[in-house]
Amino acid sequence: MRLLVLGGHQVATIDGGPTGFLIDDHIAIDAGGTTRGLNIHEQARIDTILLTHHHFDHIRDLPMIGLVALDLGRQIDIHCSDLVKDILEAHILNGSIWINFFTWLNPVEPTFRHHRVDPGKRFRVGPYDVLPIDNRHHPVPVTGYEICTPENRRLLYTGDTGPGIRDIWGLVNPDVLITEVTWPNDKRDLAGMAGHMTPELLADELEAFRAEKSRLPDVYVCHVNQYYGDTVARELVEASARLGIPIRHASEGVEIVL
Ligand SMILES: [Zn+2]
Ligand SMILES: [Zn+2]
Repeated sequence: MRLLVLGGHQVATIDGGPTGFLIDDHIAIDAGGTTRGLNIHEQARIDTILLTHHHFDHIRDLPMIGLVALDLGRQIDIHCSDLVKDILEAHILNGSIWINFFTWLNPVEPTFRHHRVDPGKRFRVGPYDVLPIDNRHHPVPVTGYEICTPENRRLLYTGDTGPGIRDIWGLVNPDVLITEVTWPNDKRDLAGMAGHMTPELLADELEAFRAEKSRLPDVYVCHVNQYYGDTVARELVEASARLGIPIRHASEGVEIVL
């Protein structure tokens, strides 16, 4: 499995974009900053999208990705909760702001084929086994995904999360963890309220992981707010030293191979 980071930050700027990953050139995870790193032919290869939640920085590029598929007469499998689909249909893909790809052009074979995701109910994507995880540490429900390769290597992406994520460690066993750090340590209180992570808060959750499993996964962080990027990077080095492991940045262009 080869995961490419297309958007590894919170905000859309010249040097970074909101969350978007691409596995094996055709499976997208979240669709915030997906299009920024792909030409039209690469975008046309996307046939599956896993969505964690409906916040705009994770769904922003869906209208454009859908348009490419519609033009080519292709279908894309969209894996998300009913809540995410309902909100997309009510507010973005509503026939007014943009085309409702869940019903258009042909309701029997629409451009977006919805597959309902339920926490704990595994499903297959290509050669991979996917376990959806209920993450309740953000202002809206988030579905994390643990993706297992045929060789039994596991990648966990938590989606947006605040502190408390240790409550899912018992459900998963990742070799690689992608999670978020949005703000620096001095915004700890805000992070707790808004459901985001700081370097120190992440280190606390990783200490809990190690206490439970006597090991740590390879750790990557995304969703850094670029305005605080230098401070967050420095504090992540401190968190790495505290934990005795490298904490890497899942920034644009980074490839993670399992
Ligand atoms: Zn969010
Ligand atoms: Zn976000």
